[in-house]
Amino acid sequence: MSKLHREHVDVLIVGGGMIGLSLSILLAQQDRKVMVLEQHVQPQLTDELALRVSALNDRSRQVLKQCGVWQRIKNHRSGPYNSMQVWDKDSSAHIEFSAAEVDAEDLGAIVENNVVEHFLWQRAEQLGVKIQQAPQWQLLTAGNESHSAEVQLEQQLVTADVLVGADGGRSKVRHWAELPLTFWDYQQQGIVANIRTEKPHQGIARQVFLPTGPLALLPTPEANTVSIVWSADQAFAEQLLAESPARLAKWVESESGRVLGECRCESAVKAFPLRMQYARQWQQQRLVLVGDAAHTIHPLAGQGANLGFGDVKTLAEALGSGHLKALDELQRKLSAYQRSRKAETQVMIAAMELFKRGFGTANPLLKGLRAVAFAIPNRFTPLKRKLAEIALG
Ligand SMILES: Cc1cc2nc3c(=O)[nH]c(=O)nc-3n(C[C@H](O)[C@H](O)[C@H](O)COP(=O)(O)OP(=O)(O)OC[C@H]3O[C@@H](n4cnc5c(N)ncnc54)[C@H](O)[C@@H]3O)c2cc1C
Repeated sequence: MSKLHREHVDVLIVGGGMIGLSLSILLAQQDRKVMVLEQHVQPQLTDELALRVSALNDRSRQVLKQCGVWQRIKNHRSGPYNSMQVWDKDSSAHIEFSAAEVDAEDLGAIVENNVVEHFLWQRAEQLGVKIQQAPQWQLLTAGNESHSAEVQLEQQLVTADVLVGADGGRSKVRHWAELPLTFWDYQQQGIVANIRTEKPHQGIARQVFLPTGPLALLPTPEANTVSIVWSADQAFAEQLLAESPARLAKWVESESGRVLGECRCESAVKAFPLRMQYARQWQQQRLVLVGDAAHTIHPLAGQGANLGFGDVKTLAEALGSGHLKALDELQRKLSAYQRSRKAETQVMIAAMELFKRGFGTANPLLKGLRAVAFAIPNRFTPLKRKLAEIALG
């Protein structure tokens, strides 16, 4: 058997999505030696709008600025959104708020995930982060007081003072460490497509709650194109997916009350199973989780990646610039990170559930109640302000 090539890094990050890559940059900026293992190649920029987009709040944008990529993303393609409208198809429940109400220029920006990843990847490499394409690897140990964490690639043994699982909702790192998970399946599919609309979206992020699940219409950088996320109940999702994209667009048109006029679908249609999950423990020895590996939430308020960027900022700050070899000191830092981020994640999950149940019910009594309840925030500015602050991050 040929000899393994050994390499030691301060931090090894498994997963080069938006969250793993942005963390690698903040750590490299602290003069850490960082490696990222990613199963795919660098995402490329395309002329047409990608299907996967994220509504990023201002806090996430600040993280991307700190990484030195925001201007590149903005110059390429991104769409600021300046107000939000949320309503219920079956009642008068309605909430609307704008950036002006919170003295902000906008509420955030819609970005394509692959554009963000492309520029983060480029920047990480410029800072000396080694991004290793590794579809196959094996986690050998999460380390201890005297030993580093160890991951074996084909001909290479990588050792690290800290091992970060940023490998998404189906995290192999989390699974390997057997970190306990709380989850429930929403029995919904998130259907995504890009829809051309007769009327311009005017930078408004819209969401309509339907008996079949919430439908979001996100304003893309193109004035007459919205990116939809329809979190449709399983049976209805299957029906929608069996139909043509043209028919889907007609559903969007009618279910949104023709708010943007006639709709046409000019893209592929994709679906993602929706599941809420969070790891009850985010760390073990030298191993720690970030982003979707630690939590996935319902996309109805578009907060998944925003939570992940919050993890990145807090973890980079918690690790600081000191050395990471002493296990008790490292665990103190990781515990502080876990405490702070778990608290915010749980609040967000609870808020999503409240919103989903408040708007999502078909029970006539609750429908009446929610119409009253949601009419209050729309009139009562301090409450709306609070909602806008959550949106801003
Ligand atoms: C329909 C939908 C709409 C959404 N809209 C929004 C929104 O508007 N705003 C928002 O904030 N969030 C939104 N989200 C959530 C957001 O997409 C995720 O929270 C975010 O992409 C998580 O990023 P991540 O880097 O943690 O994980 P991922 O994006 O899943 O990245 C994980 C990376 O790890 C790699 N990887 C996985 N396994 C391995 C392995 N074994 N070896 C090596 N590499 C591996 C993957 O290739 C990938 O690059 C939405 C989600 C869905 C489903």
